[in-house]
Amino acid sequence: MSRTSNGPTRRGVLAASLSLLAPLAACSRHAETSFDGGWVGAAHERGHLLRGPVPAAKSGSLPEPALARRAGAIVIGAGIAGLAAARALMRAGVDDVRVLELEDTAGGNSRGHAIAGMRCPLGAHYLPVPGDRAVEVIELLEALGVRKTEHGRAVYDERMLCHSPQERLYIGGGWREGLLPPLEALPTSECAATLADYRAFSAAVAEAGDHDAFMIPTARSRWSPALTALDATTFSTWLDARGLHAPALRWYLDYCCRDDYGAGAAQVSAWAGLHYFASRHGFRAPGADAPSEAGEGVLTWPEGNAWLAERLAAPLGDRLLTGRVALRVREGRDDVSVDAWNAVTTQSERWVAPRVVLATPLFVSARLLETPPAALREAAAAMRYAPWLVANLHLDTALDDRAGAPPSWDNVPYGDIGLGYVDAMHQSTRPYAGPTVLTAYRELGGDSGVDIATHRAQLLNEDWRSWADRIVAGLAVLHPDLPAKLRRADLMRYGHAMSIPAPGVRSSAALQALAAPQRRVHFAHADLSAYSVFEEAFFHGTRAGRAAAAA
Ligand SMILES: Cc1cc2nc3c(=O)[nH]c(=O)nc-3n(C[C@H](O)[C@H](O)[C@H](O)COP(=O)(O)OP(=O)(O)OC[C@H]3O[C@@H](n4cnc5c(N)ncnc54)[C@H](O)[C@@H]3O)c2cc1C
Repeated sequence: MSRTSNGPTRRGVLAASLSLLAPLAACSRHAETSFDGGWVGAAHERGHLLRGPVPAAKSGSLPEPALARRAGAIVIGAGIAGLAAARALMRAGVDDVRVLELEDTAGGNSRGHAIAGMRCPLGAHYLPVPGDRAVEVIELLEALGVRKTEHGRAVYDERMLCHSPQERLYIGGGWREGLLPPLEALPTSECAATLADYRAFSAAVAEAGDHDAFMIPTARSRWSPALTALDATTFSTWLDARGLHAPALRWYLDYCCRDDYGAGAAQVSAWAGLHYFASRHGFRAPGADAPSEAGEGVLTWPEGNAWLAERLAAPLGDRLLTGRVALRVREGRDDVSVDAWNAVTTQSERWVAPRVVLATPLFVSARLLETPPAALREAAAAMRYAPWLVANLHLDTALDDRAGAPPSWDNVPYGDIGLGYVDAMHQSTRPYAGPTVLTAYRELGGDSGVDIATHRAQLLNEDWRSWADRIVAGLAVLHPDLPAKLRRADLMRYGHAMSIPAPGVRSSAALQALAAPQRRVHFAHADLSAYSVFEEAFFHGTRAGRAAAAA
C-alpha cells in the first residue's frame, strides 16, 4: 500500500473482468467448504425511509412528533465529517450539540467490526501520515497521542505506523514486494515499452504536481485553469492522449482509481487520477531515486479508521443519538427544525436548533432539506456514487503461502483474477502466524453508470452467501487452502459508499458554494471534495462546525 511512492492506498479490487454476473466455476470446487456469516453493519431499510413512506405513518407522510426538543446545534450524520463538526462546535463553546445518526454506531464509512475477539474494519482502514497542509488532522493526531513533535520533527507512535512488510503483488504465479508490476515479472517483449511508460508517467506527475496544485485537503490546492482542464476529461482519455498504453501501467493506474475512488480510470477525472499520486508521494519508475522518508507511511489499526472514529465519538456521550433517521429539515426564520425517525421507539421526533450541520452525503442532504438550495440540487444531480462490498473472513489457522514476498498487510492480485485482502492481525506483535481476519474489499463502481446500477441492484437483491462464495473463489486463486480454513464471512454492503470524482464534479461552482459558510444550515461531508478520504471528511466537518458556531 502507500508507503512506497507507488503504493495504492485504500483496498480496491479490479472487478471488471471477474464477471459479477456469472457464477464462478471455482465456487463448485469449494462446495465442501462450510462457513457461517451474513450481512452486517448497515441498515439500508432505514436509509430507504427517505425514499418512501415511514412505516408507522398511514398517510405516507411523517406523523406528528412524539417528542420535541431544542438544542444549541444539531449535526446530522456521525461519519467522520459529522464527528469532526460536533467536535469543532463543542470546542467553540457550543456544548449543547446533538448528533443524529441513522445507524446503531457512529463512524459511517469508518466503522469497525469484530469476529472471534479480533477487531477488523467495516470500511476505511488506514490514514496516510498527513502532509503539512492537513493541519486539522495533525492537531487531532496530536490530541490522540498518535503524533508528537520532537526536536522539530514529527514522531508517530510506532504501534500505529503500518508494520513492514506492507504490500505485495501476486503476479506470474508468485508474490512480489510492492504493488507496481515489476518489469522482471512481465513478458520480456513488454519490458522496454513498460519502462518507458513508467518513466513518462512519472515525469507527467512531477510536472502536474508543481506549484501547490495537488494538496490535501484539496481545498488548499492552488486551483488553476490547468486543473479545470484536467477535471474536464477522464483519466483514461488523458492517458490515451499521451500514448501511455503499457498494460502493466494501465492495470496499476486503474487499480489505484478503483482503490481510492471506487471506480476505474474510465470514470474518474484526470484531475483525480493525478491527484492520487501528486498529492502524496509522486510516482516512482523502477530505478529512480527513492523518495525521502518524510511524509511516508500509513497509520493503521486492526479495526481500521474505526480507531479514530471511536475516539471522536467518545467525548460526545449522550449527545450522540444513534438509530435516528433524519427525514426532513426545514429552515425557518430563526431556527431549523429536524424531523427524525427513532428506529428504536418507532416514533417520530422533532429537534429544533439555531444551527444545523448536514454531514450526510449530498444526495441525502438534497432529499432532507425541504427547500434545497440550487447549488445542492445541482451538485447532487451531478454525483455518481460507487457501491462497495467489504468482506471480513475469519480463518481459524494460518494460511499456507506461495513463493516470493512474505505475507504483508495488503495483498493484491495482478490482472483480473479478483480480490486482494488486508490482514487485520498484521499490526499485532504476536510472534507466530495464527487465526486471523482477512478483510477483502471490492469496489463496484466499474466503468460506467450501467455498472453502478447493476452492481447496486445485485448488492441489494442477492443473498450474502453468493457474494461470499465469489469472494472466496477469488481468494482461493491466491491461497488454495483458504476455503477449508474459513469459519465465518461477515459482509458489509454499501449501496452509495462514496461519490466518484467524475469529470466536472470537483471544479463545479456548485460544490464550492456548498463548502462556503451558510446562514443556518451548513454542509459537511467528504462529497464536498469529490474525494472520499479521512482528511477531506475531517476538514469539511471541522470547517462547517466552526462556521456554524460562528454564525
Ligand atoms: C469500503 C471503503 C473503504 C474506505 N477506505 C478508506 C481508507 O482506508 N482511508 C480513508 O481515508 N478513507 C477510506 N474510505 C473513505 C471514507 O468514506 C472516508 O474516509 C470517510 O469515512 C467519509 O466520512 P464522511 O463523514 O464524509 O461520510 P460518511 O461515512 O458517508 O458519513 C455519513 C453519515 O451520515 C449518516 N446518515 C446518512 N443519512 C442519514 C440520515 N438520513 N439521518 C441520520 N444519519 C444519516 C450515515 O449513516 C453516516 O454515518 C473508504 C470508504 C469505503 C466505503
